[in-house]
Amino acid sequence: RTVDPLSRDETTFRTIDELAKTDAAAAKIYYQHGQSTAKRWGGWFKKIGGLFLRMLQMVAVPLIITSLLTGILGLGGANGVGRMFRRTLLYYVCTSMLAIITGLLVVNIIRPGLAGDAVPVAPTEAHEATSLGEILFQQLEAMIPSNPLGALTEPNFLSIIAFTIAFGLFTLSVGGETSRRIEAAAKAGFEVMMAMTTAIIKLAPIGVLFLIAYVTATQGPGVFKSLGWYVLAVTIALAIHACITLPLILKFVAKRSPIQYAKAMSPALLTAFSSASSNGTLPLTMSSVENRAGVSNKTGSFVLPLGATINMDGTALYEAVAVLFIAQLHFGHNLPLTQQIIVAMTALLASVGAAGIPHAGLVMMVIILHAVGLPVEMQGIILAVDRVLDMARTSVNVWSDSCGCAVVERLENA
Ligand code: ASP
Repeated sequence: RTVDPLSRDETTFRTIDELAKTDAAAAKIYYQHGQSTAKRWGGWFKKIGGLFLRMLQMVAVPLIITSLLTGILGLGGANGVGRMFRRTLLYYVCTSMLAIITGLLVVNIIRPGLAGDAVPVAPTEAHEATSLGEILFQQLEAMIPSNPLGALTEPNFLSIIAFTIAFGLFTLSVGGETSRRIEAAAKAGFEVMMAMTTAIIKLAPIGVLFLIAYVTATQGPGVFKSLGWYVLAVTIALAIHACITLPLILKFVAKRSPIQYAKAMSPALLTAFSSASSNGTLPLTMSSVENRAGVSNKTGSFVLPLGATINMDGTALYEAVAVLFIAQLHFGHNLPLTQQIIVAMTALLASVGAAGIPHAGLVMMVIILHAVGLPVEMQGIILAVDRVLDMARTSVNVWSDSCGCAVVERLENA
């Protein structure tokens, strides 16, 4: 028994399907009414949950700037260790790219966003084909802001990151008192931004509640099936990177036994897993690398602090998988290759800019969502499972930093 939403009379039928057998026109009206109720409620859930997402967006720009500057200026006398610096950076970029490619392959095979029967939010025809050259050029152009302050307000993340890196490197080259002052300011700013982000993240459960309600109301419960596939996709891709790619690099480049190395690093890896913070784990990572894995203090103290801020293979991989998953859900089809290349490039930058604290990867995802034109609210769906994935990706982040020590040490000695 239910009340006719239009005439307010009581009627007796069980389901719209049942009604449709006798009165198709009425069934259609009920169906549309149900849809519009879900949309109305969904709209409110989205607005309230959106406050949480706005806060995440609020901290993104200052967090990226201070985190990047702290990382780069922390290099201090980078000139003296120029070769080690280049090798470390090369290792970071290569492994992060390998991680992203692994993530993209897995998410293209599993297609978690198309696995459930969720309704696409904005079904579109495949994107216009733009040539790869054009896309790469657009990205390059975006990296040179004609007005850095304008980039801050837009915000144009690529420009912000590129300008901050340039600013950091030139600060180092100016050196002396100037460099020390800017470094102190960046460090202080970073500390405050980390505290603010951590406080906002505490609101996550409430934000998650509303955003999940919004997603379910507008897309139907089928979305949870997709979510399960998404968790599986991230986990498989992380496992491939941690258990196959990095061990191969350890074995053939660093000439180390991957199993023994992993055993030596186990205290740090377990702490990373339980704390979901590579910054928090850093002291333990340093002591494990030096005391248990036998890497020199010179290498460890150079590679690890830098790695904890800018080398995040797990985060890079996760960003790529998550954004492709969101795109599948949103558009109802996979992103074309050219767009996936943008995802790969921006995921690399997002992982570089991410701070080593819990859920930092979520904050950075805004960059990639922006780049491929996806609405930030769609993040709501993946929030619910972010903590578990954060634990896993943080361990991979720390594992990659640790392997980096062995690789750089070996190359230096050779
Ligand atoms: N929690 C990660 C870390 O500390 C960053 C992230 O959220 O991806 O390494």
